[in-house]
Amino acid sequence: MSAKPKITARGTRDWQELDSRHYLHPFTDFRALAAEGARIITRAEGVHLYDSEGQKILDAMSGLWCVNIGYGRHELADVAARQMKELPYYNSFFKSSHTPAIELAQLLDELTPPQFHRVFFTQSGSEANDTILRMARRYWELLGQPQRKVVISRVNAYHGSTVAAASLGGMAFMHAQGGLPIPDIVHIEQPYWYENGIDVSPQKYGLRAARRLAEKIEELGPERVAAFIGEPVQGAGGVIVPPSTYWPEIQRICREYGILLIADEVICGFGRTGQWFGSDYYGIEPDFMTIAKGLTSGYQPLGGAMVSDRVADVLIEKGGEFAHGFTWSGHPVCCAVAIENINIMRREKIVERTREETAPYFQKRIRELADHKLVGEVRGIGMLGAIELVAHKGSRTFFRNRGAVGLVCREHCFRNGLIMRAVRDTMIMAPPLVMTKENVDELVTKARLCLDLTAREIGVG
Ligand SMILES: *Cc1c(COP(=O)(O)O)cnc(C)c1O
Repeated sequence: MSAKPKITARGTRDWQELDSRHYLHPFTDFRALAAEGARIITRAEGVHLYDSEGQKILDAMSGLWCVNIGYGRHELADVAARQMKELPYYNSFFKSSHTPAIELAQLLDELTPPQFHRVFFTQSGSEANDTILRMARRYWELLGQPQRKVVISRVNAYHGSTVAAASLGGMAFMHAQGGLPIPDIVHIEQPYWYENGIDVSPQKYGLRAARRLAEKIEELGPERVAAFIGEPVQGAGGVIVPPSTYWPEIQRICREYGILLIADEVICGFGRTGQWFGSDYYGIEPDFMTIAKGLTSGYQPLGGAMVSDRVADVLIEKGGEFAHGFTWSGHPVCCAVAIENINIMRREKIVERTREETAPYFQKRIRELADHKLVGEVRGIGMLGAIELVAHKGSRTFFRNRGAVGLVCREHCFRNGLIMRAVRDTMIMAPPLVMTKENVDELVTKARLCLDLTAREIGVG
């Protein structure tokens, strides 16, 4: 590609050609995408996307688990424009601050569990987890226990894509590229009853999976362990909803050994479970919470680390300068948009509506798909759902070439105007919280059609 002929874009094909020439996409097989051509999304309204071919698509993933209040909320655009005119940017280094970051920090104090009064802003969930890793280790250093460095996470966890966040995550295919994980991060079993708990009840299995944490702490030596990190419900790992016994036992073990508990709320936060935070849903008291995604409903990039008094008091009293931060930490435009997003959620009682109306209806309707011959299990809480596609449901037999059938189903979804994501052969959903019953009905009707088309294509039934 030494000569650079300029393409003047017109239609879908032109955009696809330009895309494959110049744009390296995240989590993408570049060559395969170039051969196929990207889907060009041109606009969105409510819970629907529109592509460059004019197709209307129901977005059952809220973008990437983030557009919680739906598309087309002009209030957020207005707030962003106003903030850009008044103060488009200033940093919070060098003893400076600005009102959007201060106001948002105060608002987060109100919304989060009582142990949280402080936030460290980042631009993403990944950066927030990097921040928390450094703060957790710093906390133990300041308490005179510098040997407490190890963070225990879980297989198939997703905590982001920077070097530290990908290490905290438990995705083997990510670790395989570029020499991860970094030292002193280890992984235990995920609480995935459908795959790992075949011989016991969910309740028993939840305790067994949680006790892997105590076993790992004992194996490493309790004096070396800094923290445990987990998503209240694992998202990208396949919407793994833990049995109800799991989190109370994890909390008990963290307390018993005095280690820090980090709840990665990037997906579960801001109403996704029908509570403000997944920690509220499961009744746990983390020492850190990672926030991003739904914080701005995706209208601007913003993340943060909520820091509990237990940690903040030590950092403030004994720490001196915390040598960490980002150019965009507390970006005024992003903070202004987050404030308006939260105000809208409160004004329209979106969390309450999710808990009392939308999520119960969504959960009831998706469970009807469990009667389908390809479906081994339907699970979910709040506005999170997963459909496990299996070769044989009675014996819980997964497909031999795991992941292939999920991709077949995902293609049928795209072609029929529905976005569901495939994780292995699990179809996952995280629709906007503002879905109406009609939207949920459309989702379930399309999902059933796509399951039928998938069954036919792979020659089942
Ligand atoms: C998306 C995600 C992250 C990473 O957030 P980015 O903003 O993409 O860096 C971290 N944790 C969880 C649970 C996520 O789903």
